Amino acid sequence: MASNKQCFDKILISACFLGERVRYNGVVKSLVSQLISQWQQQGRFISVCPEVMSGLPVPRPPAEINPKTKQVLTIESVDVSQQFKKGAQLALSLCQRHDIRFALLKESSPSCGSNTIYDGSFSQKIIVGEGITTKLLRQHGIKVFSELSLAQLELLLDQ
Ligand code: SF4
Repeated sequence: MASNKQCFDKILISACFLGERVRYNGVVKSLVSQLISQWQQQGRFISVCPEVMSGLPVPRPPAEINPKTKQVLTIESVDVSQQFKKGAQLALSLCQRHDIRFALLKESSPSCGSNTIYDGSFSQKIIVGEGITTKLLRQHGIKVFSELSLAQLELLLDQ
């Protein structure tokens, strides 16, 4: 017999939100919110860190998308575009495997940003844009939200 749990929409979530040690600087920084706790208890989350899944280490040099060339470059000017694309593909595969329609990803990250990204100058400047994983997920019809739009995501779940 199907359980209620199986009726819930699953959500692809940035692993760093769940306190996993995946961020570029190795610092753990979870997203604390009542909705996050509720969705976690409901078993909705499929955790993903596209950068770590692609084989990049923790810690790793910060990387940003060059707005002109669209390459992803580290602060040392190493081109990591292929790793970022591979991470995006792996995230998409997870969504397809788990029938996921929604993702909750960290804003401004070069992989996970959904409204903004850093401007490629490594000077903490933010511009309108989306990360490599977000872009690919959206191209496949997955709706991507951030920590700033939890309420909007809640409205769409289980409809
Ligand atoms: S790639 Fe995404 S999940 Fe991984 S650390 Fe960066 S923001 Fe978090």
